[in-house]
Amino acid sequence: MDFSGFEFSQNALNTFKTCPKKFGYKYEQGINWKKEDEEEYYKSLKYGVEFHLMCERYFSNIPVGNFSGDKKYEKFSKWLERVKNVVPIYKDREYLTEYGLSIKIDEESRLNVKYDLAIIYRESGVLCIDIWDWKTENRKINYNDLEKRMQTIVYMSVAYEIIPKIYGKNNEKVRVRMYYYQPEYYLEPIEIKYNEEKFKNDKNKINNLIKEIKKSDFKDKNLNSCKFCEFNMLCNQKNINDIAYEEY
Ligand code: SF4
Repeated sequence: MDFSGFEFSQNALNTFKTCPKKFGYKYEQGINWKKEDEEEYYKSLKYGVEFHLMCERYFSNIPVGNFSGDKKYEKFSKWLERVKNVVPIYKDREYLTEYGLSIKIDEESRLNVKYDLAIIYRESGVLCIDIWDWKTENRKINYNDLEKRMQTIVYMSVAYEIIPKIYGKNNEKVRVRMYYYQPEYYLEPIEIKYNEEKFKNDKNKINNLIKEIKKSDFKDKNLNSCKFCEFNMLCNQKNINDIAYEEY
């Protein structure tokens, strides 16, 4: 596969870890498989996008829109109130919604992230970034594995590396924290802290994974993932196991 100009993301890295064959389908062959008869699934995705948009408007200080009276959106007001409670707005902090960062990996490719919300500020002189991620799934998220998630690894390491270059002075370090917040189920967010040691580990993991991807012919299959993979019909002539897919 030609990687010139290729933009890696946590999704791409995660897809390769899940199954190299799947990475090949999606990113080498460009196949996007929409699951049929899954109106509910796509509705729920759209619902999530709309809530993210509402939060984006709130933190950008523009009207969020009026959802009262529309039964479909009755949860939004409650969710937004919870978000307001957990993320107070301070005048001396910068609130950046849908904030994208991109880091050069090598001569031909980059790694991109986009944060739902990034808050940049100084606390007792220390440069800080808080990364927020809204979760709107119907299923209550199990937070035990959050620290090991590819999203966490990529989001925190990129912030740790780049934010001091944009906002810092004289090679100072940044304090990075990541918060996952699922307003349907939780009053408080889950906080993940970061340090130099974690950053070095994460950076190695990311670089090694990208090297592995670049060497791969995308023929290896991870058969443990097939039952919730949208390419199950292509690989195994089998339909997706709906329950496993929903859990995935
Ligand atoms: S069906 Fe299985 S082998 Fe095929 S791409 Fe999906 S996870 Fe990989």
